[in-house]
Amino acid sequence: MFRIGNGIDFHKLVHEPMRPMILGGLHIDSEYALMGHSDADIVLHSLADAILGALALGDIGDHFPDTDPKWKNMNSKLIVEKTLDLMREKKFHISNIDITIVAERPKISPVRREMIESIAGILGLEAGLVSVKATTMEGMGSLGRAEGMMVLSSVLLEKSK
Ligand SMILES: [Zn+2]
Repeated sequence: MFRIGNGIDFHKLVHEPMRPMILGGLHIDSEYALMGHSDADIVLHSLADAILGALALGDIGDHFPDTDPKWKNMNSKLIVEKTLDLMREKKFHISNIDITIVAERPKISPVRREMIESIAGILGLEAGLVSVKATTMEGMGSLGRAEGMMVLSSVLLEKSK
Protein backbone atom coordinates (compact mmCIF):
# COMPACT_ATOMS: atom_id res chain seq x y z
CA MET A 1 0.00 0.00 0.00
CA PHE A 2 1.35 3.35 -1.09
CA ARG A 3 0.61 6.93 0.00
CA ILE A 4 1.77 10.03 -1.87
CA GLY A 5 2.33 13.45 -0.33
CA ASN A 6 3.32 16.95 -1.43
CA GLY A 7 4.75 19.76 0.65
CA ILE A 8 5.44 23.35 -0.31
CA ASP A 9 7.17 26.07 1.67
CA PHE A 10 8.17 29.70 1.15
CA HIS A 11 10.59 31.82 3.16
CA LYS A 12 11.81 35.38 2.76
CA LEU A 13 15.43 35.81 1.74
CA VAL A 14 17.39 38.61 3.42
CA HIS A 15 20.94 39.93 3.20
CA GLU A 16 22.19 38.95 6.65
CA PRO A 17 25.77 37.63 6.63
CA MET A 18 25.67 36.72 10.34
CA ARG A 19 22.58 34.53 10.09
CA PRO A 20 23.32 31.00 8.86
CA MET A 21 21.58 29.61 5.81
CA ILE A 22 20.63 25.97 6.25
CA LEU A 23 19.13 23.90 3.43
CA GLY A 24 18.35 20.22 3.95
CA GLY A 25 20.32 20.29 7.21
CA LEU A 26 23.39 21.56 5.33
CA HIS A 27 25.08 24.89 6.16
CA ILE A 28 25.34 26.92 2.94
CA ASP A 29 28.07 29.52 2.58
CA SER A 30 26.05 32.64 1.71
CA GLU A 31 25.69 36.29 2.67
CA TYR A 32 21.96 35.71 2.44
CA ALA A 33 19.72 33.89 4.88
CA LEU A 34 16.12 32.77 5.15
CA MET A 35 13.81 34.39 7.67
CA GLY A 36 11.65 32.19 9.84
CA HIS A 37 10.71 31.17 13.33
CA SER A 38 12.85 28.02 13.50
CA ASP A 39 16.18 27.78 11.65
CA ALA A 40 14.10 28.42 8.46
CA ASP A 41 15.30 25.22 6.74
CA ILE A 42 12.79 25.48 3.91
CA VAL A 43 13.87 22.14 2.41
CA LEU A 44 13.21 20.16 5.60
CA HIS A 45 9.95 22.05 6.23
CA SER A 46 8.53 21.14 2.80
CA LEU A 47 9.74 17.56 3.25
CA ALA A 48 8.05 17.21 6.67
CA ASP A 49 4.87 18.66 5.16
CA ALA A 50 5.00 16.10 2.34
CA ILE A 51 5.32 13.21 4.82
CA LEU A 52 2.48 14.58 6.98
CA GLY A 53 0.41 15.05 3.80
CA ALA A 54 0.95 11.43 2.74
CA LEU A 55 -0.24 10.34 6.19
CA ALA A 56 -3.19 12.80 6.10
CA LEU A 57 -2.00 14.19 9.44
CA GLY A 58 -2.33 17.91 8.70
CA ASP A 59 0.74 20.11 8.28
CA ILE A 60 3.78 21.22 10.25
CA GLY A 61 1.87 24.31 11.43
CA ASP A 62 -0.48 21.96 13.32
CA HIS A 63 2.31 19.91 14.88
CA PHE A 64 4.98 22.59 15.38
CA PRO A 65 3.14 25.95 15.72
CA ASP A 66 5.35 29.00 15.15
CA THR A 67 3.52 30.69 18.04
CA ASP A 68 5.16 28.19 20.39
CA PRO A 69 8.46 29.60 21.78
CA LYS A 70 9.71 25.99 22.00
CA TRP A 71 10.33 25.98 18.22
CA LYS A 72 12.10 29.38 18.06
CA ASN A 73 15.47 29.06 16.26
CA MET A 74 15.03 25.32 16.48
CA ASN A 75 16.99 22.87 14.38
CA SER A 76 14.49 21.70 11.77
CA LYS A 77 16.00 18.20 11.89
CA LEU A 78 13.88 17.81 15.05
CA ILE A 79 10.73 18.56 13.04
CA VAL A 80 11.67 15.85 10.53
CA GLU A 81 12.58 13.35 13.27
CA LYS A 82 9.23 13.86 15.01
CA THR A 83 7.45 13.54 11.66
CA LEU A 84 9.31 10.26 11.01
CA ASP A 85 8.12 9.01 14.42
CA LEU A 86 4.51 9.70 13.36
CA MET A 87 5.17 7.87 10.07
CA ARG A 88 6.60 4.81 11.85
CA GLU A 89 3.69 4.75 14.29
CA LYS A 90 1.46 4.35 11.22
CA LYS A 91 3.82 1.59 9.97
CA PHE A 92 5.05 3.36 6.83
CA HIS A 93 8.51 3.91 5.40
CA ILE A 94 9.76 6.23 2.64
CA SER A 95 10.07 4.78 -0.88
CA ASN A 96 11.59 7.87 -2.47
CA ILE A 97 11.68 11.65 -2.34
CA ASP A 98 11.83 14.30 -5.04
CA ILE A 99 12.60 17.89 -4.01
CA THR A 100 12.56 20.96 -6.27
CA ILE A 101 14.13 24.20 -5.04
CA VAL A 102 13.10 27.46 -6.74
CA ALA A 103 15.74 30.09 -6.00
CA GLU A 104 17.71 32.76 -7.84
CA ARG A 105 20.32 32.48 -5.10
CA PRO A 106 22.20 30.73 -3.65
CA LYS A 107 23.33 28.54 -6.52
CA ILE A 108 22.27 25.00 -5.65
CA SER A 109 24.31 22.97 -8.16
CA PRO A 110 27.66 23.26 -6.28
CA VAL A 111 26.08 21.94 -3.04
CA ARG A 112 23.47 19.60 -4.51
CA ARG A 113 25.38 16.36 -3.94
CA GLU A 114 26.22 17.33 -0.34
CA MET A 115 22.60 18.34 0.30
CA ILE A 116 21.35 14.96 -0.96
CA GLU A 117 23.80 13.18 1.41
CA SER A 118 22.63 15.40 4.29
CA ILE A 119 18.92 14.74 3.66
CA ALA A 120 19.51 11.00 3.15
CA GLY A 121 21.46 10.94 6.44
CA ILE A 122 18.65 12.68 8.36
CA LEU A 123 16.10 10.23 6.94
CA GLY A 124 18.29 7.13 7.20
CA LEU A 125 17.88 6.49 3.47
CA GLU A 126 20.25 5.56 0.65
CA ALA A 127 21.24 8.69 -1.28
CA GLY A 128 19.83 7.06 -4.45
CA LEU A 129 16.31 7.44 -3.04
CA VAL A 130 16.63 11.21 -2.59
CA SER A 131 16.43 13.62 -5.53
CA VAL A 132 17.20 17.35 -5.27
CA LYS A 133 16.61 19.57 -8.31
CA ALA A 134 16.81 23.33 -8.62
CA THR A 135 15.43 25.93 -10.96
CA THR A 136 14.99 29.70 -11.09
CA MET A 137 12.09 32.01 -11.95
CA GLU A 138 14.22 33.61 -14.69
CA GLY A 139 13.79 36.99 -13.02
CA MET A 140 9.99 36.90 -12.98
CA GLY A 141 8.02 37.99 -9.92
CA SER A 142 9.04 38.16 -6.27
CA LEU A 143 10.97 34.87 -6.34
CA GLY A 144 12.68 36.06 -9.51
CA ARG A 145 13.80 39.20 -7.65
CA ALA A 146 15.27 36.86 -5.00
CA GLU A 147 12.94 38.22 -2.32
CA GLY A 148 12.41 34.64 -1.21
CA MET A 149 12.72 30.98 -2.02
CA MET A 150 10.21 28.20 -2.62
CA VAL A 151 10.67 24.47 -2.19
CA LEU A 152 8.31 21.73 -3.34
CA SER A 153 8.73 18.18 -2.03
CA SER A 154 7.01 15.00 -3.13
CA VAL A 155 7.29 11.81 -1.16
CA LEU A 156 6.04 8.26 -1.67
CA LEU A 157 5.42 6.20 1.45
CA GLU A 158 5.01 2.44 1.48
CA LYS A 159 3.35 0.38 4.19
CA SER A 160 6.02 -1.59 6.04
CA LYS A 161 5.69 -5.39 6.11
ZN1 LIG B 1 9.19 26.89 6.64
